[in-house]
Amino acid sequence: MTSRPKPVVLILIDGLTPSMLEATDAPALRFLLDHGSYRRAASTFPSLTPVCLASIATGGHGDVHGIPHLVWWNRAEQRLVEYGSSFAAMRATGIAQGLRDTMINLNEKHLLSTAETIYEALEDDGLTTAAIDITTYRGRTRHAAIVPGFPPVYGPKRFFFYSVYESDPTGAPLAFLSRSLGSIDAYAAAIGRWLVTRDGSDLLVYYLPDYDYASHAVGPDLAHEALGRADDAVATLFAAAGGPDAFLERYAVVLCSDHGQSPIEHATRLEVPGALVAASNRAAMVYGDDPRALAAALDDDPSVGMTLFLENGELVARHAGDEDPSLLDAFPDGHARALGALRNPNSGDVLVSAAPGWEFRDLGGRHHRGGGSHGSLEASDSEVPMLTVGLGDPPASITGIKQLVVDHFASPTKS
Ligand SMILES: [Zn+2]
Repeated sequence: MTSRPKPVVLILIDGLTPSMLEATDAPALRFLLDHGSYRRAASTFPSLTPVCLASIATGGHGDVHGIPHLVWWNRAEQRLVEYGSSFAAMRATGIAQGLRDTMINLNEKHLLSTAETIYEALEDDGLTTAAIDITTYRGRTRHAAIVPGFPPVYGPKRFFFYSVYESDPTGAPLAFLSRSLGSIDAYAAAIGRWLVTRDGSDLLVYYLPDYDYASHAVGPDLAHEALGRADDAVATLFAAAGGPDAFLERYAVVLCSDHGQSPIEHATRLEVPGALVAASNRAAMVYGDDPRALAAALDDDPSVGMTLFLENGELVARHAGDEDPSLLDAFPDGHARALGALRNPNSGDVLVSAAPGWEFRDLGGRHHRGGGSHGSLEASDSEVPMLTVGLGDPPASITGIKQLVVDHFASPTKS
């Protein structure tokens, strides 16, 4: 007997490291682990949220989606784009411009028109998708803002974005009241409950960012309280379905994070004479005329783990003056991630992956010394937990999620 494939919930816990999930005794997350297939998977490069979420939504690295970093030089408009490294960094480029770039332009202008999002792919097949708070949301349905001053945007049919865009009235509390106490995850949970109660979508992208916020402050492997709040947000979906077993009767699940997190001991302002540097967290991009000379200028910098550039279309990976593509074998999915980042048309001429323990100060001078950060090619920044329930084997990369979900709905015989 054939039946309609189960709807899918994609749970994204920002910055959750594999070790934290594997050791958790938080009840909802443990229940999913006990009922699914699990592996560690690779993120993209730079392993920073706007880049990673674009990779999850489009199924490709930067060469496919065009989002290069948290901060980058927009060659066409001759200006820096800053997606919110910190409030101080946003102030350096202008708060209003920063909000517009993060909330509107990322999808309307920066995301390549040649890329296809998971919402576009599924809705073109007649399915209904829903997204809560994920920064890569481009879809086919026009949504007017419910807050004055924001333009209409195109998103999935059911679209909820930080209390600014809401396709349906759900009664959710405001998203921004108290970030450190988990108000954004609480907003997501209220909407998730509303959607699950109504069977409101074939795909629900349930993005929970508050864990990453806590992990930056206290460092990886210490943010247990924040993970407990993410667990509560997952338990809310279970309750809306009538309990954990009833939830898995009705839904298939992907649970993962977008990137990892590393402890930070040193912070530095990365500088290259004669070049423009866009740096934040544990990755940087250098814009200038002679990539080889720019990379060589960083050979003796202890904060630099690896420099990458293209020469006659070939990838060059350089560490302390040595050049060898096999240097990338030390990192999860290193070669594909490096090449995808270098072939992103919005990337710098040289890409920099930070050395272990180091972070680059952002435009506002901010850093997370004593806490956690991410962005580099290193495994600690780049390995993510990847759990599937009712969808077969989990993918080896965050770029495999889109195809997994599309294939699930393309198969008519699954029940
Ligand atoms: Zn982060």
